[in-house]
Amino acid sequence: MAKDYYSILGVDKTASADQIKSAYRKLAKQYHPDLHPNDPVSAEKFKECNEAYSVLGDEDNRRKYDNGEYDMQNGGGYGNPFGGGFSASGFDDIFDIFSSFMGGGGRSSSRHAENVGSDVNYNLDLTFMEAARGCKKTLKFTRKDACPDCKGTGAKDASSVQTCPHCKGTGQVKYVQNTLFGQSVRIGTCEKCNGTGKVVTNPCKTCNGKGVISKAMNLSVEIPAGLQDGSVVPISGQGNATQNGRNGNLNLIIRVRPSKVFVREGNNLRVVVPVSFATAVLGGEVEIPSLNGVFVHKLPENTQNGDTLRFRGKGIRGVQGYAGDLFVTINVEVPKSISRAQRKAMAEFEREDSIKNYPKRKAYMDEVAELYKDDK
Ligand SMILES: [Zn+2]
Ligand SMILES: [Zn+2]
Repeated sequence: MAKDYYSILGVDKTASADQIKSAYRKLAKQYHPDLHPNDPVSAEKFKECNEAYSVLGDEDNRRKYDNGEYDMQNGGGYGNPFGGGFSASGFDDIFDIFSSFMGGGGRSSSRHAENVGSDVNYNLDLTFMEAARGCKKTLKFTRKDACPDCKGTGAKDASSVQTCPHCKGTGQVKYVQNTLFGQSVRIGTCEKCNGTGKVVTNPCKTCNGKGVISKAMNLSVEIPAGLQDGSVVPISGQGNATQNGRNGNLNLIIRVRPSKVFVREGNNLRVVVPVSFATAVLGGEVEIPSLNGVFVHKLPENTQNGDTLRFRGKGIRGVQGYAGDLFVTINVEVPKSISRAQRKAMAEFEREDSIKNYPKRKAYMDEVAELYKDDK
């Protein structure tokens, strides 16, 4: 069941590569997780348009997809086998997107000047407890790594690297253009050597001169406690390598499955604990869940429905280092059915009962009587 990548990007089947790219940039900018922390919908959209662009943004993949031959599992060989589905293609674009946020240029161009590879994005799904307590994870993904045979140079050996004859090693060339107003001269990057000043005469066979190879990674990481859904954690140097350069980052896009027991509010936790009518009246031990397991707490006599207990420091120890509190709300549950003996005991109980033990009921009855005091 192939997804409709064209409609995900909101473009026509006949869209040009430029139209696809610009549609993708617009959406990626719109849904980038850094702009929408804690928004699973945006995170999902972001993932979806990355996936769509990894296929449609690549001429080869797009052709296969159009012919129904595209295999998502092995998409172009970059596919993340663990549900992530992020592809390595297009991540330079993410930097452009970032730099356009940051007021232009800076990050993108400096990264290129430093010759750092593109980032790899990785969707990391955590259970509520994993996120709240921190955990160890083994990340499986594929990245571009420096070729071990040529050490990332792309050359068979040292003598295969020569000074670029086109620019004489400067990396720059003059472009002369004839215009209506005469000649204009522009200095630009040498296209023969991409500005490096060096050319490879005899490329490395292992990587076909690219300097990088695909590498399957098994990376163990320590996930700190307290990460929120939608947060992005960059791990430096674990992304894609580039020829003669360094590895970019591995960006963990954190997704946290909600808990059916705990509700998180910042670093505080909330939990509702149902207790029996008898326990509420007589007092007694209740089991309360916490991040370190269940603990027993003694409820006092005559605990009211809705009473909230606060346990300081039993919340989440957030990434900022301080721990929140655990708030426990007592929910008195009336039995769905009772035995004959219980019924008898309850009738006895009711006979012994007095309105003076019920300040809320007493106040309520007085207020209601007040409503109708002038009626005849
Ligand atoms: Zn090589
Ligand atoms: Zn050159």
